[in-house]
Parts: sequence; structure tokens; C-alpha cells
Amino acid sequence: MKIERIEVLPIRLPLKAVVTLSRGVSRTIEEGKQMVLVKMTADDGTVGWGESGPSRRWSAETTQSCYTSIKHYLAPVVIGRDPFDIAGIHRAMNIELAPGVDPGQPVAKAAIDLAVHDLVCKKLGINLQTWLGSKALDRIPLSCLVSAPTPDKVSEVVQEGLKLGFKGFKVKVGHDPDMDVEIIKAAVDAAEGSIVWPDANQGYNLDQALRMARAFEAMGMEIFEQPIPMTDIYGMKKLLSSTTMNIAIDEAAMGIPYLIEMIRREAVEGVVIKVNKVGGIYYARQMCDLVRNAGFKLIGSGLMDAPIGFQASVQLFAGYGIDFPTDLNGPQHIAEDYLAEPLPKDGQNALVTKTPGIGVVIDEVRVRGDLKLEL
Ligand SMILES: [Mg+2]
Repeated sequence: MKIERIEVLPIRLPLKAVVTLSRGVSRTIEEGKQMVLVKMTADDGTVGWGESGPSRRWSAETTQSCYTSIKHYLAPVVIGRDPFDIAGIHRAMNIELAPGVDPGQPVAKAAIDLAVHDLVCKKLGINLQTWLGSKALDRIPLSCLVSAPTPDKVSEVVQEGLKLGFKGFKVKVGHDPDMDVEIIKAAVDAAEGSIVWPDANQGYNLDQALRMARAFEAMGMEIFEQPIPMTDIYGMKKLLSSTTMNIAIDEAAMGIPYLIEMIRREAVEGVVIKVNKVGGIYYARQMCDLVRNAGFKLIGSGLMDAPIGFQASVQLFAGYGIDFPTDLNGPQHIAEDYLAEPLPKDGQNALVTKTPGIGVVIDEVRVRGDLKLEL
């Protein structure tokens, strides 16, 4: 079996809400959720779908960079290869776009990776979780992402989330330390005992982070996500020794080599895994294994994934038995997607699809000619 054709399809999904990171909004309403879909066809007609969903203020890739990297560098070395040699496909991609502390343009590579996994699972007639050989859960609880500028607004969003059935709230901080303390206090007060945890997206310096860790710990937080810049390994170690909270890395968990370096330096206890961020399922599952074997806290998340990335993540995280609320917030922010059939849900639990492949049915009319990129 050989991969015969790869189509690269830029697409814009309208948003109903934005996320504000420490660097500003991750995407404006006007630009929408821009991404790149990949349709991969094998010589026997089997088709796999993948997606790149870059978040430009979160990591360095853009819709344009994903499009040109896939079209001009990745697709040409993947066409003609056996889709069952997933490791070989990643090796070929890494020769073209070199890996470093991360797999080298991981969001672009994730589209190929997801399409290959979808294709081989369809060929075998199994879902992704069966391919992974790990079926701990058949569903995962989703968390509500809270990204609001004032305590009153945070309180409103949390109350609304409770009504919708969310049991966990990840709250964006990293802006103004004094305001952030009030924001977390408002979230805890409104959450009626549900899980709340702050995510600073690298927004604090070490002194601020040490102060915030004390404040958040006093409010009962158990996890504090990426308080300081991802490169500050010394700071991470110091933070961990200053608190009983789990200081989780997210932006710093870009790939296996850097994660191993942080483990060697005793600077990690919790790791946030995102399928698109780390270059797809091939690397994400290795990182899940590494984190689990090291005895660290394993947390699932995403980059506001659309349905392909969303359902692939659900199958991975459910496979690994992640029952901590998972920040796959695509459905919370994307107003309209590209599915021909909706994904199964039970309240705010995302269910593992049982159909062969990643388990999404694409509206092929919707994904063509949707976005013209200036290149
Ligand atoms: Mg995060």
C-alpha cells in the first residue's frame, strides 16, 4: 500500500468567542479559526484526513507556514511511502524540516500524522483507540476555558459553564498579578466545588510566579499551568520546591528531547499534552508513555482543535485514562465546523467514536475553496 495523493486545503472556521493569552487574543473574531486540512489518498482509494490548527500567539507557526511547509516540503516526501511505516514517515519529514527542542514545525507535521493514522485505521477497520492498544476509558470530561478580563466577568462565565454541565474550569491568568488573584478567587467562589486551575501561558517572571504560587495554593489550587517562560528550567525547579502545588508545563512540553532534559534537571511534575503541539499522535503517545512511566501528572489539552484534532485527542486521552477535565475547547469557541455528522457527546463528556479511523465525517464541499491565503 502506498500514499498516492495529498491535498492541502486552507479553511477558516467562524468563531463565537476568543481566548486571551498573556500575549493577547489567540485569534480575533475577524480572522476566525484559520487552519489547514490534509486529505491523503492511498493507491487503493482509502482516504485519511488530518489538520493543522496553529495558534500564532501560542507558538511560532501560522496558517501560511503550515500550508507552505506541508505543500512544498512534507507532502512531496510522504507521497509514495507505505502509510503503515509511521515512524519512517516522521523520519522523512524530519529530514526536510529539522527537529530541535520540538519536532520542527510540529503543527504542520501533525496534519500529515493525523491523516496517516486516520488512513491506516480505516484500512484495518478499527478506530484510533484500538490502533493505540489502550482503551482505559470510552469518554473524557471536558473543562470550560475561562478567559475574561474582570472577576465579575469570570464569575459569570463560570456560572454559565456550571449550567452547561462543566465540572472543571481552566482560568487564563498571566496578565496583572493583583487582578489575577481576584480572578481566581472569583472563579473558585462561583465554581461550587468544581475543579479550578490557573494557566499563565508563561506570563509571569520568577518572582511574580513564586508570589502567585503562594496565593493560588492558599486558595486550594492543585495545579498551576506554565507560570514562567518555557526556557526557564532553573525557575521551574525553584517553583516546584516552593509549593505543594503541581506546577505543570505546557508550552515547555513541545517535544521529547526538551521534556527529558527537564526531567533530568528535576524541573517537572505535571505535563500538558496537545496532539497538534507535539507533531501528532506518533509523538503524543510517546510523551504520554514517558509521563506515565515517570509518575507525573498527565493532563490533556489542545489548541482550540477542530473536529479531527479534537476526536483524535479524545481517543488518545481516553485511551490513557485521563479523567482530569480536558481543555479541548474547540466546541466552546468555534461557531461552525466542517463535519457532515456531529460528534457524539454526553453532557460535557466527549465520547470515543467507534467507527474506523479517527471517526469524523467531513463535509467535502465545506472544506474546498473556503480560504484564500496571501503567500
Ligand atoms: Mg496552557
